[in-house]
Amino acid sequence: VSIAAPDAPDPLLPEPNELWQETCDWQPDAAQAQLLQALYARTIAVNRQLNLTRIISPEDFWEKHLWDSLRAIAPLGWLNAGATAPAIVDIGTGGGFPGLPIAIAVPQATVALNDATRKKLAFLDGLVAQLGLENVRTLAGRAEAIGHHPGHRARYDAAMVRAVGPPSVCAEYGLPLLKIGGTAVLYRGRWSNADTEALRPALAQLGGELVEIAAYKTPLSRSNRHCLYVRKRAKTPSAFPRAIGIPTKTPL
Ligand code: SAM
Repeated sequence: VSIAAPDAPDPLLPEPNELWQETCDWQPDAAQAQLLQALYARTIAVNRQLNLTRIISPEDFWEKHLWDSLRAIAPLGWLNAGATAPAIVDIGTGGGFPGLPIAIAVPQATVALNDATRKKLAFLDGLVAQLGLENVRTLAGRAEAIGHHPGHRARYDAAMVRAVGPPSVCAEYGLPLLKIGGTAVLYRGRWSNADTEALRPALAQLGGELVEIAAYKTPLSRSNRHCLYVRKRAKTPSAFPRAIGIPTKTPL
């Protein structure tokens, strides 16, 4: 075990611009690259106390936090489209993923970072201020409650949900927050046809339709990823999301 001296320089993230270009049809400009590096440095510094993530080597952080976060929004077309200003909510953001890389890569978007744990959001408030990200705010509370709040229900163009629970739970958290025509992006690892069939009835109840399943491998460690794009076609009935704890206790 090597323990870095407190004044050791921060390790540097890889900058594989050709990989960004190939997989996301985008690459960070100099200011964005600097922000991504600052996000990395702050996260690993605070991680020693807060235990936000187990992903700390530069390559792992780049692939599993930065690339993974951004690859999923590439199909939405916002990475290079300066004119559209989508409202995005990241449900169960934890240490700020995927919401913070998205806010950096899509500066015209407004990003709400939601989590039920106030301690994590307090860290994120400090981080957002340090990075000077004016398009981000934190949103404390359970997704089941926020989904009924008039200021948040049916207000977003996209709801990102990574590592928060089973797919139908993520859909129940995400779809109520979307405008009609908005997209819930469900980050998954393995995925099968049986998973798709199991998810369909939940989506039908929530007003969603699965429009795309993107299957790919991460570019460095070649791990399997699936990303589900669920379009909101109809208003979500007011019974959803169900009361706090019910979506995970009895998934749709
Ligand atoms: N999305 C991040 C990522 O992929 O790195 C963090 C994932 S972490 C495993 C799950 C997070 O979801 C935790 O921070 C937890 O507090 C939050 N969470 C779980 N259930 C939630 C709910 N019902 N409403 C809001 N946040 C929730």
